[in-house]
Amino acid sequence: MKVEQYSSRTLFDALGRIGGERPAERLEALREAVPGRIVFTTSFGLEDQALAHLIFKGRLDIEVVTLDTGRLFPSTYKLWADTEERYGVRIRSYHPDQAALATQIADAGINGFYHSKEARLGCCQVRKVEPLGHALKGASAWVTGLRADQSDQRGRVELAGWDEERGLIKVSPLFDWSREEVVRFTEAARVPVNPLHAQGFLSIGCEPCTRAVKPGEPERAGRWWWETDAARECGLHVAADGRLVRRKKAA
Ligand code: SF4
Repeated sequence: MKVEQYSSRTLFDALGRIGGERPAERLEALREAVPGRIVFTTSFGLEDQALAHLIFKGRLDIEVVTLDTGRLFPSTYKLWADTEERYGVRIRSYHPDQAALATQIADAGINGFYHSKEARLGCCQVRKVEPLGHALKGASAWVTGLRADQSDQRGRVELAGWDEERGLIKVSPLFDWSREEVVRFTEAARVPVNPLHAQGFLSIGCEPCTRAVKPGEPERAGRWWWETDAARECGLHVAADGRLVRRKKAA
């Protein structure tokens, strides 16, 4: 049976019955409802650490993988190692294609992303979007740490939807949580988190493209801060023009 045949009704019925309940139950329901490979992509941010905790503690058959762009903060690599040690696991990493990366750097420069939006999106494409495609190859479902109140662009994030382009179910178990709820959860469960969060780095991506936010700024204001348009995303979840990409509500 194709994933799409059962994704629409069966999955949404299963998730719908526990809608509004705990993320752990949502993950368990997802695993029960959807056969095949389920992949959770973590960037070791606050939300991702909460979900990784639930998956590892619950011993759920969900692959936890990461996209190593090669430009992450040293503290992110340390958190990666700390997380593996804490839960006794290995987190598989996906990397940019070396030839494509060499071409991109030769064309745009090692820090070319500061000079044009085109170069920035080209870098994200090689370092993030293409490795994501490899990570999700053959997967039935993709689990993400998205929350609807992270930004205006993410405001329409739902618990579950169908990713048209990738041909899989996309699930965001924390879609209706606030940042404060995630903080309370990680603190109560003693989940390891990136120390940069305490220094104002509310959303953490690649080192050269992330700065701390000032009090009162939106939590994703520190990502690609030099770009002037409001829609600043890397193309994994939201298109460069701010559209939430390739999803329709499972129904
Ligand atoms: Fe490149 Fe910056 Fe995108 Fe990372 S966030 S892939 S360094 S442009």
